[in-house]
Parts: sequence; structure tokens; C-alpha cells
Amino acid sequence: MPEITHKNGFVYLIGAGPGDPGLITVRGRECIGLADVILYDYLANEELLRHARQDAELIYAGKVGGAHNREQSQINELLIQKALEGKIVARLKGGDPFVFGRGGEECEELAAHRIPFEVVPGVTAGIGAAAYAGIPLTHRDFTTSVAFVTGHEGHDKDVSTIDWERLSLGSGTLVFYMGIKNLPQITASLITQGRTPETPVALIRWGTRPDQKVLTGTLADIAEKARKNGFKAPAITVVGDVVTLREKLRWFDSRPLFGRTVLVTRAADQAGEFSRLLEAQGARVLECPTIRVVPPESFAGLDDAISRLADFHWLVFSSANAVAAFFDRLNCLGLDSRAIGPCKICTVGPKTAELLRSHGIRADLMPDDYKGEGVVAAFTDLDIRGRKILFPRGDRARDVIPAGLQQQGAEVTAPVAYRNLSPDAVPQAVLTALEERQVDCVTFTASSTATNLADLLGENRFLNLLGGLTVASIGPITSRTCRELGLEVHVEPREYTLAALTAEIVSYYRSRI
Ligand code: SAH
Repeated sequence: MPEITHKNGFVYLIGAGPGDPGLITVRGRECIGLADVILYDYLANEELLRHARQDAELIYAGKVGGAHNREQSQINELLIQKALEGKIVARLKGGDPFVFGRGGEECEELAAHRIPFEVVPGVTAGIGAAAYAGIPLTHRDFTTSVAFVTGHEGHDKDVSTIDWERLSLGSGTLVFYMGIKNLPQITASLITQGRTPETPVALIRWGTRPDQKVLTGTLADIAEKARKNGFKAPAITVVGDVVTLREKLRWFDSRPLFGRTVLVTRAADQAGEFSRLLEAQGARVLECPTIRVVPPESFAGLDDAISRLADFHWLVFSSANAVAAFFDRLNCLGLDSRAIGPCKICTVGPKTAELLRSHGIRADLMPDDYKGEGVVAAFTDLDIRGRKILFPRGDRARDVIPAGLQQQGAEVTAPVAYRNLSPDAVPQAVLTALEERQVDCVTFTASSTATNLADLLGENRFLNLLGGLTVASIGPITSRTCRELGLEVHVEPREYTLAALTAEIVSYYRSRI
């Protein structure tokens, strides 16, 4: 859809969904990317801000459990001020903006100032959290209606605007928002007005997030259970017989890695694929970039090789970074995939081959064993005496491939195509989680991720913070590095892929239940 030109400012009121960043709408994500200014809530997952433009101004307008960080009137004023400056403003709110979200008031203000706006609906907590708890809000065998109710009201019948009698006598499912503090009054009102005390109840805190907590009971005992468990907001309360379905239908908090926190030490520019795989198994993932991939100090070696690409018989890639760096350079030099001509290509594993395919090229050779030694072994079946091989590599790449191929009589050119640098520091959120012992498992997907993390933390702190954690390594070389650094390795897959590593972590924890 062509966007309106916003000469006089424009406000997008966007529902961010209940927590899982995947639950924002396509339109919502699109609008975040259009904004000059983003005002976001406490309940809106901050991860969504990565869809923002680099130069967008980010303003936290959070409300933390009633202690309003900014008063609603201040938020309204800010919205109006920014829009009147001609800015495109995104107001990012938890759940749906029009369900207990003050979205109505914000729009009234905008309308009064003749500021144009668009409302992007979101998955409200009642819908999202119930789904992730395995509770269908309606079900033909149980009930045909559902009501969303605020639990943040006086419960004295004279002042409450809630019709407790009707709510209680109807057979519908009730979903209370903001009701944890008032749980004793809510449950008492419902019982007094006629709901049976045995009615099932579920409390869902931080629904759809990896730290979702669910507590179930009945109208008679849930308030006391919540008190004993120290159950806190933000949570919704679901009342009704449908709650019993959770036993059969829970699918999210029963995933194998649910409740586990996994630290992924990864290259900064690497796609979050490993994190997604772990999250799909229910893990809470913390990412700690340990490598920064940057261009080489000089492109002379690589450029020289590229200028005589036609001389080479083989091109060998031992990492996805090498593929990316090589094709970037081709592009910079005004060339494209055709420059490779009849030269054959070997990749170290399926990921590298996949990236290569995105450039329209299929690998001719891939070892069974996805590492440098495997590449060398794969070539022993071919006669490469006198053959010219180009091996664009990282500055810290091991010598195994060039040495092994030379030994077989090949002539190897191995220019540096990229460098691996350490980032400046470990992110504070990661340090805090390690210090507070919240992390269960740390993963290493290359030797350099381990050595760089040790460098970043310093040897003592590395061992103090990581000792005692489950260590998962992608393969024997990385494991050896981990051991040299003083760690014990608990998980190592037979196949050196992220999918296999994920599966191995799952079976490790399964075997420990
Ligand atoms: N507009 C939001 C609701 C804001 S009111 C929406 O549509 O979801 C704030 C209340 O929403 C909280 O007190 C809690 O009851 C509920 N809530 C929001 N996010 C939640 C989550 N992830 N899990 C459980 N309850 C949530």
C-alpha cells in the first residue's frame, strides 16, 4: 500500500501483542519501520524495536505495575507535540490498543487536535496468554461466550460499574485483566453472586513469553494459592470450565527447553537462526555476540585472486562468512556470480552451501564431516595434483585446509577475505543473567566464540561465571578449545550443525528429567 505523505505528522497506534515478538501483526511491524519517533510501553516487547529505523527516536513511556513512569496526560502531550512537529509517531502498546489500553483516550486527543492517525490492532493478552496456556476461551462443550473484564476496580457493589451478578450468573468464560491484587475480592464477588466455588481458574503471568507462569485452582482456593506462591502482575485471570482443557492442550510451557535459559555466543552479524531453533523448543535465549566480522586490512590478496579467477580449478569455502565476504567483494568490483565461470566449488557444510545457492550457485563438493579435516578428506578421492585452489578465509582460520590440500599436491592461494574481531564488551543483560545464575546452558558454535568470550570476561571471571553451567559445543574442535579454557563439555552432537546441536541439547535435558 503506498503510504500517505505525512506533512503534518501522523500517529500509528500499534498493538504490540502480548509479549512473544512474533505475535505483532504484519501491519504493526511495517508501521514501526515508518516511524520517526516511537513511544513504547512496559508491556510491549522491546525486541520489536529492532524493526525501527536506525535513526528513529525511541522513548520509553512505560507504566510499571501502576507506578506510572509517565502520566497518561504527559504521554498524550508528547504524542501531540511530536506529531505537530510533523513527525511520524508510532505509539507501541502492549496487546491491543483498544482493550484496556487507553488507546481510546489517546485517539480522542489526537482527533481533538486534528492529527490523523491509524489504529493497528494487536493480539490482546486475554487471547494470547490463554492460547499459550492451552485454554480455548470458548468451546462448544463448555461455553459459547467470553467477557473481558477489568479487575482494577472497586468491588464495593455501590461503586463498581461491573455488573457482578450478571457476570456471575452467566455461564461464559471470564477474563480479568489487572486483577491479581484484587483476586480475593474478585473471587469472593463471583461466589457471592452465584458462581460455584469449584469453577476452575487459571492465572497466567507474562503469557506468551519464555518466562510464562501459570497457576490453576478454583474460585474457592486460587486467591490463597496466589498469595502462597507470591504470584504477581502482569497476569490475566481466566475463570470458567474451559480452564480444565489446559491439562490436555498445553503445548507451550510443556516444550522440552521451556524454563531453561540458554546463552548463545554468536557472531554479531550471524543470523539468529540458532536462537530461533532453541526458542522453538521453548528456551529463553540470551544472545552474546562474541565475534564481529569486519573486512580485511587490505583487499590486495583477494582482489588479485579475483582478477585471475579463470586460473583456478577449485574455490573452497569453509564458512558462511567467507561466502558472504567473497560475493560482497565481487559485487564491489562490479562483478557477479558469473565471474566464477567453470571453477568448481567445495563448501564445508549445508549452511555454507545454502548461502551459496542464494547466489545462484550449487556446490560441487561437500564433505560428510562438516569441518576442515572433512574438506581435506573429501579431496583425497579426486586427483588434485597441480590443481589451483582458491581458499578465501577468515584471518583466524586454521591451517588445516590449505596445508592438507597442499599435501595432496594442489597449489593453494588463501587470501584473507574477512577478519574476526572481538566486540568491546559483553552486554549488560547477559552479565547480569550470568551473575544471578539465571543461565542454565551456554553454547559455543566455533572455537573463536569460546576464546573471545574468555578474552572479553577475563579468564577468572569466565570460569567463575560459566563453571557449573551445561556447556554445549558444536563439534570436537570447539570442545577441545572449551576444555583448554577449563570448561567441561556436556553436549556435543554427532553432526556439526545448529539443528543437530539443538536436538542434542533437548535430549540432554530430557535424559535428566
Ligand atoms: N492493552 C493490553 C492490556 C493492558 S492492561 C492488552 O490488550 O493486552 C495491562 C494488563 O494486561 C495487565 O495487568 C495484565 O492483566 C494484562 N497483560 C498484558 N500482557 C500480559 C501478558 N503477557 N500476560 C498476562 N497478562 C498480560
